[in-house]
Order: sequence, then C-alpha cells, then structure tokens
Amino acid sequence: MIVQVVPLLAVRTLGRRVFDYRLASLPEGAAPAGALVRVPFGARTVLGIVVAEGSSGTVGPDTLLAAERVAADPVPSDLVALAGRLADYYLAPWGACLRAVTPAHLLAASRPQREHLVTWVALPESPSSPGPLATSPVSPAPTPTEKQRRLLSILPSVGLPVADACRLAGVGRAVIDALVRKGLAQTWKQAAPPPATADDQQPTQTPPAPFELTGEQEVAVKGLLEALGAPEPERRLLWGVTGSGKTEVYLAVLEEVVRTGGSAIVLVPEIALTGQLVARLRHRFGFRVGILHSALGPAQRAREHRRIAAGDARIVVGARSAVFAPVTDLRLVVVDEAHDSSYKQEDEPRYDARTVAWWRVCQAGGLLVEGTATPRVESLAARTPRLILRERPAGATLPLVEVIDMRRQGGTTILSPRARSTLDETLGRGEQAVVLLNRRGYAGFLQCEVCGEVRMCPHCEISLTYHRQRRSLVCHHCGLQVPPPPVCPSCGQGTFSRGSPGTERLAEELQRSIPRERLFRLDSDVVTSGTRVGEVLAAFARTYPGVLVGTQMVAKGHDFPLVTLVIVADADTGLYVPDFRATERTFQLLVQVSGRAGRAQHAGRVLVQTWNPEVGCIRMAVAREVESFYRAELDARERHGYPPYRDLIRLVCASRDEERAEAGMRYLAERLRAYLRSDEVQGPARLPRLRGRSRWQIVVSAADADAGRELVGRAAEQLRGPYARRGLDLMIDVDPQWFT
Ligand SMILES: [Zn+2]
Ligand SMILES: [Zn+2]
Repeated sequence: MIVQVVPLLAVRTLGRRVFDYRLASLPEGAAPAGALVRVPFGARTVLGIVVAEGSSGTVGPDTLLAAERVAADPVPSDLVALAGRLADYYLAPWGACLRAVTPAHLLAASRPQREHLVTWVALPESPSSPGPLATSPVSPAPTPTEKQRRLLSILPSVGLPVADACRLAGVGRAVIDALVRKGLAQTWKQAAPPPATADDQQPTQTPPAPFELTGEQEVAVKGLLEALGAPEPERRLLWGVTGSGKTEVYLAVLEEVVRTGGSAIVLVPEIALTGQLVARLRHRFGFRVGILHSALGPAQRAREHRRIAAGDARIVVGARSAVFAPVTDLRLVVVDEAHDSSYKQEDEPRYDARTVAWWRVCQAGGLLVEGTATPRVESLAARTPRLILRERPAGATLPLVEVIDMRRQGGTTILSPRARSTLDETLGRGEQAVVLLNRRGYAGFLQCEVCGEVRMCPHCEISLTYHRQRRSLVCHHCGLQVPPPPVCPSCGQGTFSRGSPGTERLAEELQRSIPRERLFRLDSDVVTSGTRVGEVLAAFARTYPGVLVGTQMVAKGHDFPLVTLVIVADADTGLYVPDFRATERTFQLLVQVSGRAGRAQHAGRVLVQTWNPEVGCIRMAVAREVESFYRAELDARERHGYPPYRDLIRLVCASRDEERAEAGMRYLAERLRAYLRSDEVQGPARLPRLRGRSRWQIVVSAADADAGRELVGRAAEQLRGPYARRGLDLMIDVDPQWFT
C-alpha cells in the first residue's frame, strides 16, 4: 500500500510537504494513519508518521521506497489532528509538530529498550524514622563524622542517587560506604530518578489541608462543575488572590472527573517549583497520577506515557509539553499559574500550551480552567467567565506592603537600612524571610573606571555577568565563560567597578551577619536540576529563623507558613526593557512574591525597594489596586494595537552578515506592506547580535489576524528557499512572549 509520510524533522523548508512510501506489513483491518514508521530520507533513515493513505503523486510507483513500521500502536488520531492545527496556526514545520505530539512510549519502541540503573542512598529502613534532622541524640546508633553528618543532613526520605548525594554534600563516595558499614545508610540499585522524587523532596511544613471548603471555594467549585457538565466545551478563569486555596478547588473538580471515569491534565509552570500541588495530587489520587517532568529520561517518560495511554494514570501533571499527553477520555485541563510565560515554547514548534490546552478541550469536550492570582491581560479580555477567590482561608490575611524609596537611602549595600533592620527583627523572632532579587550572578556588568568601557560578550551584544565564586565573566545568552581581566584591555590601565548587583552578591552581603546554615539561595546558578530545587526548598522550610534569597524562582507557588517577611530588593529590574509586557510582568512578580508572606496564621509583611515608587505598575501592585492596573493596561494595549486587541507575529532574520540580515528583513517588510496597512507592520528594527549572528526583526499586528497569518505564511514559504541559499535564517513566532 502507498502511504504519505511526514518525516519527524524540525526542518522549516519542509513546511507541510509529505513524501510517498510503500508500506508492507500492516495488521488485518488496521488503518495506516498515525502509524510511526522508519523511512529512508536522503542519505539517512528517519522516523516519520503516516498522515494519509494513497499516493500524493510526487513519486512514481516504481521508485517508491519502503517504510518500516516501528510501533504497534498508531499516534492517536486526535493528536495527529492537533499537530496539523499547530502547524497551521504557528506556521511551524509539520514534522516538528508531529514529533511534539508523538507519545514517548511509541518513540521508545524505535529504540533498543534499556533502563539505566544507578545506585541510590537513603537512611536505613525504620518505620518511625522522622527524617534526618530529627535524629535523636539518645539513639544508640554510632556517631557519624562531620562529613557523614553533612551527607545525612541532605538526604530526603526517599533517598537520592549516590552521585547527586555526593555532589550536594560535597563529599566522596567513601563517605557513603562508611555510613552503610555503620548501618546509618542503605544503598540499592534502581532506575535513575523515578517520576515521584521531585515532589517527595518538597517542604514538609505544609499545613494540613483545610478539610472544609470556604464559602468562596464552594461557589467556585459549583461554578466549575456546572461548566464541566455543559454540552459544549467551556473555559473559566479561576482568579484567586495568593494563598486563597485554588488547589482545593482544583482537587474537588478533579475528584468529580475521576469519579465519572474521565481524565484530566494539570499544567504547571515547572514541576520542581510546584511540588506542593503535585504532593497534594499524589496524596489524593495516588498511582492514578502520572507525572511528566523535564528530568525524566526517555525510558521513564515512555513508562509514564504508557500508563497514561492505557488509562491507568487518570490525572497527568506536568509542564507545558504535558498538554500533548496521550490521555483518553479527556474532560478537564487545569492551567495553574496561568500567567506564567514559560507556557510558551521558545523552539520550533513555538506553541503556547494555554492555547493548545483550549484546542484539546474543544476536541474532546470538557472544561479548561486557568487559575492564577495575576491573570495575564489576554485572559481578562477574552470574556472568559470568572470565578473569584478574594480571601485567604482560615483567618490568614494578606500582608502589609510598604515601599522603600531608594532615592532617599544612603549607603552602598543592596538592602537599605530599613529593610535590613526589619529582616533582623524577623529573624530575631525565629521567623523566616524571602528576599527577591531578579538578577543572578555577582554583578550584571563590569565597567572600566578609567575609560568607561563595559565588558561585552564578543559573540553577543550583551554585557558579561561577573560570577565571583566561579571567578569568571559569563554570557547569560551563549554561555561563554572567560576569566575577568586584571586591568581593562581597552585602555590598559583601569580597574573595574561592578554594576547591577545580583543574587550572588546579595547572599554575600547577608552572609556577613547571617550564619551560612540559615541562608539559602535559589537561582539557576545554584540549582541546575529539579531535584536540587526541591532540596533547597525543603532545607529552607525546616530552618527557622532562615532566609531564602533568589531570583523570580522564589516567587512561584511555594507555601511557607513561617515566612512573615518578603523583601523585594530591586523592584525595577524588569521595568526598562523594550517589551510591552514589562509593566505586566513587574506587577505580576510583585504581587506573586508578596503572596509568599503571611500564609497560615502569621501576619505577613512586604518591603519593596524601588527607585521608581511613582511608576504605575509598582504603585498599583503595592496598593493592591488590581482593577485599576488591569484597566490601565487594557487601555494602553488597545491604544498601541497590542494583544488582546491585535494578535502579533514576530519575524526575525538572522545572519552572520549584518547587511544581509537587514536587507532580508527590509525586503520581507516591503512585501507585507503591499498587503497590510502601515501600522500593521512594525520595523524592521535591529536586535542585539547573538552567537555571532546579526538579527533584524519585524512585528506584524494585522487587524484581521487570520488573514495576517496566512499572508506571513505564504511570504515565508516563498522566501525560505532563497533566504536559505544566502545564509539567512527566518524565524517566525506567532503570539510571541519575548522580543529580545
Ligand atoms: Zn579602560
Ligand atoms: Zn554570548
């Protein structure tokens, strides 16, 4: 039989092309659509998906090559259809979209199966063992040495792979062997981190969930259940202030879905940062929860996908790609922290999981719930019915917020005297504090004190960030790492001043008076894996008094009942960037991080340090003038033709040759302007060079979004060949989240 195959390649020039092959072996009566096959393609062999039966007429029957089937089951038809929609909407290569939706267990069938075993270490089996920190001094166990104690103190109850444990504790393998000999630890072999670990390592201080729903929560649950039972696909915005207990509402609705034999997908920005939600889900639904996180290896991902496809895992929780989970009987998709821009994928296919989630609900029928304390402006204009939680349950109140005007503060420290003394008082009472500084490294730039030159990455037009511990200057875009020069290479005499302090410097400043074991840092320099995030959060949760310093990672979803003080060290970091969402992001970050204070019964307090106290988004975040903020933001968006009033398509032309990149983009802009109004095409504008490539950008905001997308798609299709031959790369980003 002749079939049409799409190779699973992210090659843009292939667009929506199909290729004909001969398919021999097929079980009796099976339709070939969706079959995963291996096909010869050019000089190599690649995976592909059969999208149709019969010839497309591109190859004569005599020259047809053979496709070989590699998995028994086909990719479900709803997912194949979804890939087609992705390709159309995001103007993305069909092959890349099909690869995104192909369940991992089918892909795994094309590889030799081998699960990688590693050695794990944990505390010895003892049912009453309450955890490493509570190890009683009166126990008759042999006393561990200093190094052994350090290792024990970082071990979570579920254990860790030996390599991770050694790295975290900074000890060698011999220390573990010695502990095992003393009977203070046990080791065994199992697959590299199982799906369940990230959440098991989460803070243990979570207060027991209130058994009864509050009045507001009950109203929300009732509203969602009604929508769930509606004959048409429905969507709802669950808008609840931080700490208002959105999780309880999700759980109640999920319960109903599972009870009636349906399945659900719960999307979270990042599994490691939302461990508490995952823990609650697992507590309530046990093995019926399937977890997809980025640390899963191919074999583990395949195992979870197999459980999901078989209907064993009824609730799938994961980051954005979990929106493609091969669930059967989908009834509900929950998008938690729905404002988070990590739902947008920054590689081909550049999809937004929030948009795709709605498409899946439309395919299957059911309900989409977007939950957040700080909705994105787009979800407010979409006229999505809202359910609102205004209060924190069980007597908890929203924290008091105070602005510290840095123009009136002297000194050279990052924290003002006022912030510093409040921090000391908080710690003095044995409570916890979170300090946010949304910039990593020691200093954002080094500047020569004589000639004024700033050290830049030679490949990217970006200043190099100084990392003191690593003794290096690092490019946060391309990863280049060089030792800082002793004197300025430009003038040969100046030494450097350090600008834009980051979390590393803040931690150093605090270390002068806060003991090392009470100070925790959370940013992508210290935590490189999901496991490590859980470690830091768990260690902080059981340390009081204690301080957690970090980037926006500290603002996400955690619930620390003993945090009574939040300090925003620099509210202005995200303000002056060329992006129309800068104000929205600043507002969201301030509201979100403020929400970490004063959970449970303890009153909370927030200090916001800023050089711009009168700037709208900061002023309104501090005063909790939520309605006014969104009204102002919607007005501005309408005036300037931004989402939600216009959909945007961002086009970037990149080349090693500056002139070619510019010429390429000018030509494309001219062609689009022949069909669009002048205000519908912005640019071309030059962007900073990255990885040695010059970049020019245009942004299309057509009043008729579908017509605009079609026009851009056609123009790009025609230009890709000629551009590729001239060494020009054309990137298309539909509904872009970033413009850098
Ligand atoms: Zn100099
Ligand atoms: Zn660079």
